[in-house]
Amino acid sequence: MSREGNLEGQWVRARECMRAECGQEVFETWLKNLEFRGVEGGTLTFAARTTFVRDRVRRHYSETIKDIWIRENGNVYSVEIIVDRNSTDGALSNYPNPENESAQLATCVSDSFGGALDPRYSFDSFVVGKSNELAYAASQRVAECVEVPFNPLFLHGGVGLGKTHLMHAIAAEVLKKHPKRKVMYLSAEKFMYEFITALRYKDTVAFKRQFRNVDLLMIDDVQFIANKNSTQEEFFHTFNALVDNRRQVVVSADRSPTDLTGIEDRIVSRLGWGLVADIHPTDYELRYGILQSKREKLEEADISEEVISFLASRITSNVRELEGALNRVVAYATLVGRPITMDMTREVLQDLLRANDRKVTIDDIQRQVAEYYNLRLSELLSARRARNIARPRQVAMYLSKQMTQRSLPEIGRKFGGRDHTTVMHAVKKVDDLRLSDSSLDDDIHRLSRLLEV
Ligand code: ADP
Ligand code: MG
Repeated sequence: MSREGNLEGQWVRARECMRAECGQEVFETWLKNLEFRGVEGGTLTFAARTTFVRDRVRRHYSETIKDIWIRENGNVYSVEIIVDRNSTDGALSNYPNPENESAQLATCVSDSFGGALDPRYSFDSFVVGKSNELAYAASQRVAECVEVPFNPLFLHGGVGLGKTHLMHAIAAEVLKKHPKRKVMYLSAEKFMYEFITALRYKDTVAFKRQFRNVDLLMIDDVQFIANKNSTQEEFFHTFNALVDNRRQVVVSADRSPTDLTGIEDRIVSRLGWGLVADIHPTDYELRYGILQSKREKLEEADISEEVISFLASRITSNVRELEGALNRVVAYATLVGRPITMDMTREVLQDLLRANDRKVTIDDIQRQVAEYYNLRLSELLSARRARNIARPRQVAMYLSKQMTQRSLPEIGRKFGGRDHTTVMHAVKKVDDLRLSDSSLDDDIHRLSRLLEV
């Protein structure tokens, strides 16, 4: 393969990772249209079409881009973004460009999402658990379109927990039922940019008209307009005009309305009038469910139960990272043409695992397992080989290997000075048994959950 061809491949994969790790919205708005210019002397060069985009990408995303590229190409150590107004990558840019404003505004404020609707973000692909069931049900209710059930629907929760996913799902569903409805989705950041552009080009009338003409308006990440006074003001007017006309508004933020500092009280209070639905952090069960559903879609890749439950117990930060972890392992395995093993998983995800380290100790695991099986701790750590003690002991060793960073010899020492081969045997045994013994498999799931902090 030529060097060029190689780079092409790296670029294609890096773009996929950028999409997975930065999220669809950020990707569509800022990264999709970056033009890759090459790599020279360890510096990657990209061209953006405007200084606005260049500055934005430089400030917020160049580190991520670099990290992703380093995984593809270890020789990269810096990222340079230049401005080239003629840069074209074939696709028309999705974000508004002052030089081409009228055409852009039309793309953005169209009857539908146009290119920005991600078909993967549907209600079907959303896995429901305790932490997100209210937000899910409320979103479905909005998408039924029978009436305007609550206005606005305010979705809030930490980053990567599914807010954008639900908003896209609402849009897709509404448009499926009523293709003629005007549905508009945009991030608060984009709203601001549109507004400022309109101000600069003295075209706020058209701006207002376009926004006030929609049946369903969705503004993602409203916390972004905190302390942006004129944008807030405009947002408030737009919002009120729609609500007065009984049009549905859906808003998301990374925190609850009352925690939105830097946004005027009357706006905050107005945002809380409808239904406020929060998405809580995931629990083990939900993470496991999400990974399973993702696995079904990755038919080519063979991913074991062990890897799935390992990821579910260890990548606890958010769903975006969880998906990113799975994608990374699969991409790596495909690239090197080897099956996905636990060792590979640990190695490929080293950095993520460290960042997600929840500091469960072997002591915690031993205590929990003993309690779960109604044993005394001393029995669990004893040399007794009776099945009702030996099996829980093996489970505890297995969980110690899965949930901590400790090595086999270290684990052996903590279990009454056993040899590392004993631990290895226990891990393998439990792993095999999980496939045939569903009650043991249940035990492992329950214990993983109990050990969550
Ligand atoms: P947020 O907007 O809250 O930061 P996103 O909606 O962008 O989060 O979600 C991040 C990623 O996680 C997306 O790829 C999304 O599809 C996925 N995701 C989040 N929650 C779920 C869920 N419950 N089921 C399936 N996928 C989910
Ligand atoms: Mg989002």
